[in-house]
Amino acid sequence: MKRKVIIIGSGPAGLTAAIYCARANLSPLVFEGIQPGGQLTITTDVENYPGFPDGIMGPEMMDKFRKQAQRFGAECLFQTVEKVDILEQPFVVWANGQRYESETIIISTGASARLLGLNAEKELMGNGVSACATCDGFFYKDKKVVVVGGGDSAMEEATFLTKFASEVIIVHRRDKFRASKIMVERAIKNPKISVKYNSIVKNIIGTKDSGVESIEIEDVISKKTVNFNCDGVFMAIGHIPNTQIFNKNLTLDESGYIKTKPDSTHTNIGGVFACGDVQDSIYKQAVTAAGSGCMAALDAEKWLENQ
Ligand code: NAP
Repeated sequence: MKRKVIIIGSGPAGLTAAIYCARANLSPLVFEGIQPGGQLTITTDVENYPGFPDGIMGPEMMDKFRKQAQRFGAECLFQTVEKVDILEQPFVVWANGQRYESETIIISTGASARLLGLNAEKELMGNGVSACATCDGFFYKDKKVVVVGGGDSAMEEATFLTKFASEVIIVHRRDKFRASKIMVERAIKNPKISVKYNSIVKNIIGTKDSGVESIEIEDVISKKTVNFNCDGVFMAIGHIPNTQIFNKNLTLDESGYIKTKPDSTHTNIGGVFACGDVQDSIYKQAVTAAGSGCMAALDAEKWLENQ
């Protein structure tokens, strides 16, 4: 059966696109991917999504998005798309060994945590190194941990980790934070948090069995390297858009985000739309992702009408 719309990705962008497509009787099929609900499922309180004056937990919010889409007829599969063929109509999507055809595709595959690229980081991931404080913070009760980064994520993760850790050190490569003022204030007034500015992580020392023992950081001004003990390292240095299965055919910007035509979600291929973090290197908010998901659904609906 040829579909009208296939949506790849299930964060706020994909599930909002699903709500709008379903309400337009387009019976969308959503491939939820390896992290159903997207990045919000690994956060705690979402305090800035309008309509929730007391905040809401990220996973709960994404369950509500999904339920709302399903209520209008969206079909959600907990599968990951392995391959797409978007060079000719109908577009083809492969997941779980099965082939699916569709007239339009909405890409909302989001972004994944960026890493420093150190060998030790890969080796010790899950054994002292983490890119998700919400997932792993619990394991660092009364321990000393480092958070790498200077954006909102670093502030949020550091603040969250003080619930468990005895000491949290933010290591940032510059002398100024990129994070918003309110997030910085909340972090630096916390007595458990201290900051090492102008510092880059050169190495992480530890073993898979015993976890992290220490890190080596270089002061970018004095060029001196020091080693200090810690039990865990949390990476919070931004994200990389998930475009691997599309990058041969779609136009990307220099950072790998899908380029969309101004004021729309149209990509360089007619009938393929992109929304959410996979095409947004600037705002990256749940509410802006949801807004662009709505745009993608309306763009897809109009495109189908014009065919
Ligand atoms: P971000 O704003 O891009 O910040 C990334 C941080 O990591 C920057 O401070 C950057 O340093 C540093 N960095 C990047 N590559 C590095 C490297 N190779 N080595 C060392 N440091 C490196 O990313 P984010 O903090 O994940 O935030 C992403 C978006 O989500 C933002 O729009 C943010 O506002 C939003 N967000 C909002 C909330 C909230 O409101 N509750 C929470 C989390 C995130 P430089 O500053 O030197 O570039």
